[in-house]
Amino acid sequence: EKEELQVLVNQETVTPDGHKVDIAGNIGGFDDVAGVLKNGGEGVGLFRTEFLYMGSDHFPTEDEQFEAYKKVLEGMQGKRVVVRTLDIGGDKKLSYYQFPEEMNPFLGYRAIRLCLKEQDVFRTQLRALCRASVYGRLAIMFPMIATINEFRQAKAIYEEEKAKLIAEGVKVADDIEVGMMVEIPAAAALADQFSKYADFFSIGTNDLIQYSMAADRMSEHVSYLYQPLNPSILRLVKMTIEGAHKNGSWCGMCGAMAGDELAAPVLLGLGLDEFSMSATQILRARKTINNMSYADAQALAAECVEKETMEEVQEVIKKRLGK
Ligand code: PEP
Ligand code: MG
Repeated sequence: EKEELQVLVNQETVTPDGHKVDIAGNIGGFDDVAGVLKNGGEGVGLFRTEFLYMGSDHFPTEDEQFEAYKKVLEGMQGKRVVVRTLDIGGDKKLSYYQFPEEMNPFLGYRAIRLCLKEQDVFRTQLRALCRASVYGRLAIMFPMIATINEFRQAKAIYEEEKAKLIAEGVKVADDIEVGMMVEIPAAAALADQFSKYADFFSIGTNDLIQYSMAADRMSEHVSYLYQPLNPSILRLVKMTIEGAHKNGSWCGMCGAMAGDELAAPVLLGLGLDEFSMSATQILRARKTINNMSYADAQALAAECVEKETMEEVQEVIKKRLGK
């Protein structure tokens, strides 16, 4: 099977009836870039920048970050790189920053919530990203957005820093896309409004499922509620994709569900534009999509969102895949 997959490295991801999607890779830093390219990734759909911060004993300086982003953008040779701004808090802490004591850190002060408060930290990262933008094709993504105001505020801060740099005579790309993670049900419900402001969405199913099911993603006691194929989750995904398309935005997915082999035909049928996953999963996913007609996938998706349980959905998909 390895050789069979290998021929797909330089091929597009396109269904037999001509529906094209992108398959991208998730990375934690420059060291992961080679793997994405080797496996035929059409871009980076999620660069988790928190590792830059966690691997340091101080908030990384603008120059330190600039070098890191430049390397990744150059390494990806003009393919799109979606860089997620700092997503810290929850279970991810920093030795050099005092987080507040909270009963429920996953429902607390983290990600964009922290960045909008600690604006120096946020602005430093945005400046570094703008400066690096001329070395490739950059998209900036804000994590854990719950409200329209958060997105507009984050984007306004980005616009401010970009304008300052340009006024200082620094070159900044004029095609930077600005989007957001959809990983809080409130954002999924309002996707058609968010897409007026966001160039793109990327659905973070790890958190979206956690928050939809009210089941801690770290707790084994409730892990049975991690159900990507529950019709409730499929409906949230559908609402998000339709909401994006309503205003001409594109919609990707970078949570683990994007690389789930059973989920792929349904996500394709729901109209997902980009799938971002571990590099090693890319070719298998491309094979699945290149062998499935879009019309069939759409029919399958329509059937799945009308089911009652995850088990029923799994059954329908398996039958369709001939498994
Ligand atoms: C997600 O929540 O699905 C996601 C991709 O982000 P993380 O796993 O880093 O929270
Ligand atoms: Mg997340």
